[in-house]
Amino acid sequence: MQSFREKLIRIFYPSAIPSVLLKNKGGKEIRKSLELLNAELEERVRGRTHELSQSERKLSSIVNQLPVPLLLLRGPEFTIEMVNDSMLALWQRPGQDVIGMRLLELLPELADQRFPEQWGTILRTGIAISETEVPVYIFSPSGIRIPLYLSYYNYPLFDDSGIVSGIMATIINLTEMVGARLEIEQSRELLELAVGKADMGTWQIDAETRDFIPSVRLKELFGYHPNETMPYNAAVDQITDDFRQSVVDAVELAIGEGKSYNLEYSITGFHDKKIRWVSATGKLYPAKNGVSANFSGTVLDITERKIEEIRKNDFITIVSHELKTPLTSLQLYVQLLKTKADPATSNLLTKIEAQSEKMTAIINGFLNVSKMESGKMHLEKRNFLLNEVIIQSVAEFMLASKNKNVRILCAEQIPVFADHDKMGQVINNLLSNAVKYSGPDRAIEIDCLRLEGRVQISIKDEGIGIQPSDLEKIFQRYYRVESNENPSVKGYGIGLYLCSEIILRHGGRIWAESVFGEGSVFYFTLPSL
Ligand code: ADP
Repeated sequence: MQSFREKLIRIFYPSAIPSVLLKNKGGKEIRKSLELLNAELEERVRGRTHELSQSERKLSSIVNQLPVPLLLLRGPEFTIEMVNDSMLALWQRPGQDVIGMRLLELLPELADQRFPEQWGTILRTGIAISETEVPVYIFSPSGIRIPLYLSYYNYPLFDDSGIVSGIMATIINLTEMVGARLEIEQSRELLELAVGKADMGTWQIDAETRDFIPSVRLKELFGYHPNETMPYNAAVDQITDDFRQSVVDAVELAIGEGKSYNLEYSITGFHDKKIRWVSATGKLYPAKNGVSANFSGTVLDITERKIEEIRKNDFITIVSHELKTPLTSLQLYVQLLKTKADPATSNLLTKIEAQSEKMTAIINGFLNVSKMESGKMHLEKRNFLLNEVIIQSVAEFMLASKNKNVRILCAEQIPVFADHDKMGQVINNLLSNAVKYSGPDRAIEIDCLRLEGRVQISIKDEGIGIQPSDLEKIFQRYYRVESNENPSVKGYGIGLYLCSEIILRHGGRIWAESVFGEGSVFYFTLPSL
C-alpha cells in the first residue's frame, strides 16, 4: 500500500527517481544529490499538501453553502464522508457532526425504504439511479415521523482504478410543493363529489381564449346531448325572455367588477323544449400564480321547488287581486260618505280610510313580490334627480305620519338613470321602516353622497337596531326579526326584499349597519351617470 506522500510524488514526479538512480556518479555525490532532491521534494510536497488542504476546505465550504442537499457515502457500509448543511437540515440534524458515521446508524428508518438496495446496485453496477417525487419518511431526533417528497440523483464515485467506491447523492425537497398540490387535488375531489351529489352543472370561461366549457350535467340541464357542443350564445338564447336581459347584465357586472352573482331563472331545453328553472352562480377568478383568469359557476335544477313556489305565488296574486276590487269600492264609498258626514263621523271615516290604505299597500307589496318572482317586473329607466324623489317621499310621509322629525341632509344634486316610481318605492319602504322601528319623534336623517362611479343614499334612525345575526337576512323574502319588544309592529318581511331586488336590478348595492338598541343606517348605491 502506497503512503499518501509516495502517492503525491508519483503524481507530480513520475520520472524523477528512476532518472536520478540511473546517473551513477559515485556514492557520495549520489547521496548528496539524493539528499538535495529529497529536501526539494519534501518542500514541494509540503507546499502541495498545503494547497490540497486549502482547496479541500474551499470545496467543503462551497458544498456547505449549496442550497441543494448533498451527501458523499463511502463503501458498502454507506459511511458518511461528506454532507452539507442543507442535507443536515433536511434530516433535522443541523450542526451535528456525522462524518464517519454509517448513514443507516444515523437514520435507521431508511433501512426499510428504497435507498440501501439502490445504493447497493450503484456500488455493484456503477450506474446512476435517480427518481422524482418519491415519498420518504425520516424520524426527527425527538422521534416525530416526518413525511417528505423528494427527487434525488445518486451517482457512483470511482477510485483511481475505476472501481466504484462511493456514492454522491443530491436531493431536491419537493415536500411543500407536492403537499400543496395534494391539498388542491383533495379539495377538487371533494368539490367534484359535492357537485356530483348535488347534481349540479358547472361551466367555465377562459378569460383569454373566451372558450366556454360546460360540464355534461350542464348540457343535460340545457337540453343538449352529452357529446354535443353547447355554445355560450346559444345557452343565453335559451334563457326565457323575462329573464334574459337581467342575467346578461348580472354576468357583465360580474366580469366588469369582479362581483359574483346568484340568480334564479328559467330556460327552454335545446332539444326537448322543456322549461326548467335553475339557480345559477358565477364568479370571476382573477389570474393568479401563472394561471389565467377564468369566469366559472354552477347551475342547479330547482324546477320542482319553483313550480311549488309559482303555485303559491299564483294563489297570492289571485287573492290579492280579488281583495283589491272590493277594497277600491270600499275606499270610494268612504270618500262618498265623508262628503255627507258630520265632523265626528268624518273623523271615524278618515281612520277607516287610513286603514284601507294600509291594506292596499300590503296587497300591492304581495303583488310586487309575485311580479318579481315571475320575472315580470320591468324597469322603465329615465334620467332624473334622486333628490326630487326623496323630497316628494318625505313630504307625503310627513302628511300621513305622526313622526315629523325627518331631515333631508342631501347637499348635492344626485342625477340618476333609474326607474322613478321604483326609486320612490325604495325610499318609502326604508323611510317607513325607520319610523316603524323607532320611538315616536326619534330623529331620522336622509343623506346623499356622490362617490367614485356611484351615488350613495343613507337613511339613519335612532330606533331599536338590528342584531348582527339578522343584518344579512333582513333582505331575504318574508324574513322578519323575531322580536318580543315590539309585538305591535306588523309586517310581512317583503319591504326590504323588494328594495334589494329593485336596487340589484339597477346594478347597485343595498346593506344595513346597526348597533342593537341604538339605531340603524340603511344604505343603497346606484351606478352614477
Ligand atoms: P317588515 O314588513 O317586517 O317590516 P321588511 O322587509 O321591511 O319587512 O323588514 C324586515 C325586517 O327587518 C323587519 O321585520 C325588522 O325586524 C327589520 N328592520 C327593517 N328596518 C328596520 C329598522 N329601520 N330598524 C330596525 N329593524 C328593521
